[in-house]
Amino acid sequence: MKQIINAQRNFFNTHATKNIHFRRKQLKILEKALKQSEGLLHEAIYKDFKKSEFDNYSTELSLLYKDIKEARKMIFKWTRKEKVSTGILNFPASSYIIPEPLGVCLVIGAWNYPYQLSFAPVIAAIAAGNTVVLKPSELPANTAAAISKIVKENFDPAFFTVMEGGVEETQELLKQKFDKIFFTGSTKVGKIVYKAAAENLTPVTLELGGKSPAIVTENCNLKISVKRIVWGKFLNAGQTCIAPDYVLVHKSIEQQFLEQTKQEIISQHFAFENDNFLQIINNGNFERLTKMIQPEKIYFGGETNAETRYIQPTIMQNVSFDDPVMQEEIFGPILPVITYETIEEAIAKVNSLPKPLSCYLFTKSNFVKKKVLNEISFGGGAINETVMHITNANLPFGGVGFSGTGNYHGEAGFKAFTHFKSVMDKPTWLDPSIRYYPHTPFRLKLMRWFLKF
Ligand code: NAD
Repeated sequence: MKQIINAQRNFFNTHATKNIHFRRKQLKILEKALKQSEGLLHEAIYKDFKKSEFDNYSTELSLLYKDIKEARKMIFKWTRKEKVSTGILNFPASSYIIPEPLGVCLVIGAWNYPYQLSFAPVIAAIAAGNTVVLKPSELPANTAAAISKIVKENFDPAFFTVMEGGVEETQELLKQKFDKIFFTGSTKVGKIVYKAAAENLTPVTLELGGKSPAIVTENCNLKISVKRIVWGKFLNAGQTCIAPDYVLVHKSIEQQFLEQTKQEIISQHFAFENDNFLQIINNGNFERLTKMIQPEKIYFGGETNAETRYIQPTIMQNVSFDDPVMQEEIFGPILPVITYETIEEAIAKVNSLPKPLSCYLFTKSNFVKKKVLNEISFGGGAINETVMHITNANLPFGGVGFSGTGNYHGEAGFKAFTHFKSVMDKPTWLDPSIRYYPHTPFRLKLMRWFLKF
């Protein structure tokens, strides 16, 4: 571990990664390697939790190809030295900001979108001119092995390498000195990472989770709202950090909402164990989830199969904020439905929990839109939509408070791995004596005048 990190530091110190063409070339190598290994990547993720080729391409690989394309195209603009105004006080100086890479970066990935969550931060780190140690999640073992194989076959470990391992190995990695740590995972482990980073004052980006609400008002387009909530919730068997965790629905449309949600689950073929529906990642999560389902509160679903780690998409009704399902992020195919009577009540309920990673609002009312956006703090979200905001690279992606710190995607990703070095560049042909000692009443007068500008 130490040897590889030292090798990366030595390589970084050669300044090779600062060359734009080097970065573009490495991104191209990654793109080519992923494309050539698509068969292996599909096979591995299907073995791990039955993720289909369709889902693997649309929610993982295609996003990475888009990221690489965008970074290769925009890198010239992102790395440009930015001139800023200087002001009369420092005339005739010029001032500029130089984006510079941070150095040796550690990327720790989560398991639920294992390719996307491992490689998307790596793409940003490479575009910004860093070297990278990637620690993918150990839970999907075949996927982690595939990631490791691809990286080892295509990259010099002194530039980009993979270190596989679980909790113990990650904790050992966290004891090393890095110039940036980018972590995706739970709030609980996020705190461990933050504490370890503090030891070396290492900057961090923490992409965490939380309970993301979907608020459904009485004057929404119910048919489309239900369709988009069902898709966003049950995609990846609910194992999506930005899935709507629970629904707050206006009391007047509760029954319609429940019935239409049930029908939508059936029509999107989510209702029965089939090839379109993913497994729960492991037994631990399967048990955690099944304990959340209170049989008397099931409106639809509730079937489980421990052998195949299958949980039927489940709607729960008459749920209260004290129920087990509301005590932690669900991260599975269970949808609690809670009613509210006024929008103020809905907002207060959301605000009684830690700030969520996402928030979704379904309404036609501009007044309600403005009120919710003004009064609820959340990482990012969407109006009359779920999940899709993640696909717009122009929207920085990240949490706030317990759902994370910092953000990435597109230029925000480049910035997450960059230090912006500020420089004032002053010629020597003019050197007014006003600031130098000894100070006189006249100089003070002059200084007062200058400092107005
Ligand atoms: P996790 O926190 O258990 O694991 C994430 C990583 O941390 C893994 O690589 C794991 O090896 C490592 N790790 C686990 N325990 C550790 C410990 N004690 N010390 C040091 N390292 C440790 O998270 P997970 O189960 O992989 O992912 C689920 C969570 O991640 C959910 O909360 C979800 O919302 C969140 N998530 C967030 C995003 C986002 O972009 N914000 C994306 C996906 C998942």
